[in-house]
Amino acid sequence: MEAKTLLEAIELLRKPEARILAGGTTFFEFYERGLLSDVETIVDIEAIGLDYVTETSEHVRIGANATLEALKQNSLLDAPQYFTLKEAVQKVHPVQVRNVATIGGSLCSSLPQYDPPISLWALDANVVIVGPNQERTVRVDEFCKGLLSPDLNPGEMVKEILIPKHDAGVGSSYFKLGRTHFDYGLVTAATLLQNGQDGALKKVRIVLGNYDEEKPFRALEVENALTNRKMSPEIISEAVRMLDNTSPHSLHASPAYRKEVAKTLVTQSLLESHRRANRP
Ligand SMILES: Cc1cc2nc3c(=O)[nH]c(=O)nc-3n(C[C@H](O)[C@H](O)[C@H](O)COP(=O)(O)OP(=O)(O)OC[C@H]3O[C@@H](n4cnc5c(N)ncnc54)[C@H](O)[C@@H]3O)c2cc1C
Repeated sequence: MEAKTLLEAIELLRKPEARILAGGTTFFEFYERGLLSDVETIVDIEAIGLDYVTETSEHVRIGANATLEALKQNSLLDAPQYFTLKEAVQKVHPVQVRNVATIGGSLCSSLPQYDPPISLWALDANVVIVGPNQERTVRVDEFCKGLLSPDLNPGEMVKEILIPKHDAGVGSSYFKLGRTHFDYGLVTAATLLQNGQDGALKKVRIVLGNYDEEKPFRALEVENALTNRKMSPEIISEAVRMLDNTSPHSLHASPAYRKEVAKTLVTQSLLESHRRANRP
């Protein structure tokens, strides 16, 4: 059923076993794998106007139905602080998928190999959820509860994503290693760095994709090893060794190999984010 407004979509979601259809790219895969056998009503939200990308004094607001290609072309995301998201959507291939796949669909699929959610974690994004009774906002790391398990109750849907704005001195980036451009990343890494006035790192975010089996992995120990320290290649190489204490999953590659890839990607990403944070 095609909803014409957000209110109509919420009304249609009250029907038993109703499910949102956005770009349909993962939806189709779920259907093929028999994961939608209980669905009775499909609610198409293409026409309800959630395809905006705007900014307020505090946030960049992205409507759930903005396509990945629209984000790739949006100049707001060229700012160094948001560039991790631009790079993540650029790395979704092929273009035919980017043309229809949406940021909301990417997030609500709750699969650890998807690129955009990894960068949204590094950006400390918030997810605005609407339902029959209330609107609520949750942090993106709380929203991705586990494999195929977004934090959505029956009748709820994602309306928009809010990315907090930082002052100057923030840079971010996204790195991905796959066998080819068209593969999901064997490991992916998103980082965000904020310089303090004393030249030490005030804020550090490091998130790995396809590392944990269930959801994006925040490399907290590495973040802590870098926070309040002055950036240098030596400090990074010391900090990324903390990843030796982690246990990545072993599908498609051994944990040992995955850790080495993660260390390399995190190093590259931190250096690039730092370069961007220092851009005048
Ligand atoms: C050939 C191919 C290659 C791909 N390559 C990549 C890649 O390289 N990197 C990558 O990251 N991804 C890749 N993908 C995955 C793609 O990015 C996702 O399929 C897409 O982002 C999902 O968005 P969608 O709008 O199509 O969601 P849909 O398929 O419409 O929906 C996906 C799920 O989210 C739910 N949903 C959607 N929107 C909402 C909402 N607003 N509120 C609540 N629930 C909602 C749906 O009910 C469904 O459960 C690829 C997919 C294909 C088919």
